Amino acid sequence: MPRALTDPAELRARLRLPLVDRPAVEAAAQRFPLKISPALAERLVGAAPDDPLLRQFMPSADELVEEPGPHADLYRSDPVGDLQAQRAPGLLHKYRGRALVIASAACPVHCRYCFRREYPYAAASATNHWDQVVSALRGDPTIHEVLLSGGDPLSLSNHALARMVADLAEIPHLRRLRVHTRFPTVAPDRVDDPLLRLLSGPRFAPVVMVLHVNHADELDIPGVDAALSRLRGAGLLLFAQSVLLRGVNDREGALVQLCERLVERGVVPYYLHLLDRVRGAAHFEVPEPEAVQLVQALIRRLPGYMVPRLVREVAGEPAKTPIPVALAAS
Ligand SMILES: *Cc1c(COP(=O)(O)O)cnc(C)c1O
Ligand code: SF4
Repeated sequence: MPRALTDPAELRARLRLPLVDRPAVEAAAQRFPLKISPALAERLVGAAPDDPLLRQFMPSADELVEEPGPHADLYRSDPVGDLQAQRAPGLLHKYRGRALVIASAACPVHCRYCFRREYPYAAASATNHWDQVVSALRGDPTIHEVLLSGGDPLSLSNHALARMVADLAEIPHLRRLRVHTRFPTVAPDRVDDPLLRLLSGPRFAPVVMVLHVNHADELDIPGVDAALSRLRGAGLLLFAQSVLLRGVNDREGALVQLCERLVERGVVPYYLHLLDRVRGAAHFEVPEPEAVQLVQALIRRLPGYMVPRLVREVAGEPAKTPIPVALAAS
């Protein structure tokens, strides 16, 4: 079994990247470890330093810059208020009818902009407190949908996931199950037969899966097409959410291509998120007015079902906050 790359020096050697900023890269990787899945590493061999995939995962000197000026206090370690929304360890209840389970602390890759890079996972993961999570869900009949998220829930074994799904299936007021994951595009081998079986049982059919994909090139990784068609074949509803990231997908053409290729693989673009302001990620931010212009361009060019909703997560709000995108008369 090939293992994930976690050592910056090994990554550079494998990918044949030039050696720049070595101390800074290592310092950034000390704060939030490097992690690149084998399938992704394969795809990145020979990538240019500004490759939109590499930029999402390669630790950089920019992460060490403390954000100056008026936004300094915005780049906090818990920007979306997760710690306030805990109902049980690893169970976040922010929105009406929906509760989010931090099913696993682990991810197949480490995205440098991740808003959970500073989240106290080990203590907050639901797997160690599963009975408490189940009884909190059982005790709240207003919750109709459970989201397995993380980290990445598919980091768990199929056995552990099957047990979770079985316990959730016994709570009568739960009507829907949703899985948020990055695996199918960065580690498509994870979409194996036992996983498809456990997600295609009748109790929650159709299970909703929200994929995290930011760039059309992520769909070119060998095995991704097959994984997506297997998920569709198993009857799941597939959506994608993306984060708008400077230097990754902040161009009209890149977003158009992403949305088209997603739909051509049976995946509906769902949300385009403005960056959550977490310490060390300021260099990825695309300002809201620019984001609005990009989505206006998508609306003018694409069918309505291909255009994701532009949102921001604001702590304490009752839903992801929609960013209004008016079409100026032209
Ligand atoms: C984002 C999120 C959800 C899901 O929101 P939707 O708008 O339904 O996709 C649910 N719970 C929490 C805690 C979230 O952060
Ligand atoms: S897969 Fe999601 S939770 Fe994991 S590091 Fe990336 S953005 Fe964060």
